[in-house]
Amino acid sequence: MIELEHFPYKNILVLGLAKSGTAAAKLLLRNQCFVRVNDYSSSKEEAHVQKLMEQGAEVIVGAHPLTVLEDIDLIVKNPGISYENVLLVEAQNRDIPIITEVELAGKLAPEQSVIGITGSNGKTTTTTLVEEMLQKSDLPVKLAGNIGTAATEVAQTLEADDHFLLELSSFQLMGIDTFHPHVAALLNVHAAHLDYHGSMENYVQAKANIIKNQTAEDYFIYNMDDTVVTRIASEAKAKLIGFSTQQKHVPGVWMDEDYFYFKEEKIVSRKSIRLVGNHNLENIAAAIAIVLSAGGSKDGVRKVLQTFSGVKHRLQFVQAVEDRLFYNDSKATNMLATEKALQAFEQPTILLAGGLDRGDDFHELIPFLSHVKSMVVFGETKEHLQSLANELHIHVETAMNVEEAVNTAYYISTANDVILLSPACASWDQYSTFEERGDLFIQAVEAL
Ligand code: ADP
Repeated sequence: MIELEHFPYKNILVLGLAKSGTAAAKLLLRNQCFVRVNDYSSSKEEAHVQKLMEQGAEVIVGAHPLTVLEDIDLIVKNPGISYENVLLVEAQNRDIPIITEVELAGKLAPEQSVIGITGSNGKTTTTTLVEEMLQKSDLPVKLAGNIGTAATEVAQTLEADDHFLLELSSFQLMGIDTFHPHVAALLNVHAAHLDYHGSMENYVQAKANIIKNQTAEDYFIYNMDDTVVTRIASEAKAKLIGFSTQQKHVPGVWMDEDYFYFKEEKIVSRKSIRLVGNHNLENIAAAIAIVLSAGGSKDGVRKVLQTFSGVKHRLQFVQAVEDRLFYNDSKATNMLATEKALQAFEQPTILLAGGLDRGDDFHELIPFLSHVKSMVVFGETKEHLQSLANELHIHVETAMNVEEAVNTAYYISTANDVILLSPACASWDQYSTFEERGDLFIQAVEAL
C-alpha cells in the first residue's frame, strides 16, 4: 500500500460520507491523521460508519454544526457539496483549505502516471475507450474517479508502471491544489451545472483546473472545434495535442470520409469502427489522441475500435436478431440525448420511448423523426408521444413496459430495421434507474 508522504495536515474534516469520503477517511486514518467525519444523512448504525469509528474516526451525523470546524486544518469535501454550504463558507472565512478526494489520490500516484479526462459530455465513453485501448496496447492501467472505484482507494494500489486513468467532473476539479495529470484531456465545455458553479466563468475555471499544474513535460489533449476549450489551450504549458472532427490536416487527430489520422498518418479506417453516433466521432478522436500521447499503440487503438460497440446504456449495440439491429440508449433521459441517438441512423427505425412525465413538449423531436417508421411508447408520457406520432402519421403502438415494447417492436419490424430504445424521459415512473430499464431491455432482446 502506498502511503501519504510530505502531508502537512494533522486534523482533517471529511465532509460527506459517500464512496469517496469513506475512502479518503480510511486513507487518512491509516496515515495517523485525526479524522472527523460529518455527514447529514448517514447513521451511526451503518456498517461502514461503524468501521470508521472502530478505526478511530470521530463521527458526527444528522447535522452540520459549525463546531465540527474546531481545530481542523484541512477539509476533504464530497464533490457534490456546494461551496455555498454554511460550513464551507465559514471554513473559507477561516482560511481552512478545502480539497476533494482526487487531490489526495494525486499525492499517492507515481510521477507521470495520471491520465485525467474531463468535459461536459462524453467523459465515460472516452474514458472507457482509453482504458480498453491501453489494455490492448499491453500497458497496465487502473481506472477510477467518476466511474467505479474511489480514486484514493485505487491510488493506494498503484505500481510504478501503471497508468492511473481518472474520469473527472468539474466538481472534483474545483477541489484540487497540486493534482498534476501527465496527460490531461478536455473534451468540450457546454453550459452545465451552472446552478452549482454559479456562473459559466466559474464552471470554465473548474474545467481549466485540469491543466493548472501541468508542465512542458506533459500533454494536453484538447478539442479544436470548441472555442472555450481552445481558449483554455492557449494558456496551457503542456505539449498541445488537438483533435478535430471538422478541420483536416491539423497537428493532432482528425478525420476525413474514410480514415482517422494522427498528423498525416492513417490510424484506422472509419468503416471498421463499430461505435455509432456523430457525437462519438469526437470521443473516438479524443481517445486516439490520449492513447497515442500516453504511449499506447496504433494496433491497440484499432483492435478496440473494431469491436467496441458502446458503453452500456449509451447507444449500445445489443445484438442483431433476424437482421433487426437492437440498440440500448436507456441513458437518454431527455430529448437532446434522443435527438443525438436518432441522428446516428439513416435506415428505417422503430423508436421505443416514454417514461416520467416532466411536462416536456415532444414536438422538439420532429426534425429528427423522418426515418422513424414506427414508435412503441410506454410509461407516463405514452399518450403525449402517441399523439405526436399520430400527428406525423407515424405508425404507433403502446406497451405496458419496456419488455412488452421490445416484443411489439419485433413483431412489427422487418429485416434491417433499427430497433432503438431511447426514451427521451427519465425512468422513475416505472424503474428505479435508467440502468434497470436498460437491463430489462437487454434481457427482453436476449429472450427473443
Ligand atoms: P458523460 O460521462 O460526460 O456523462 P457519456 O459518455 O456517459 O458522457 O455520454 C452520455 C450522453 O452524452 C450520451 O448518451 C450522448 O447523448 C451524450 N454525449 C456523449 N458524448 C458526447 C459528445 N462528445 N458531445 C456531445 N454529447 C455527447
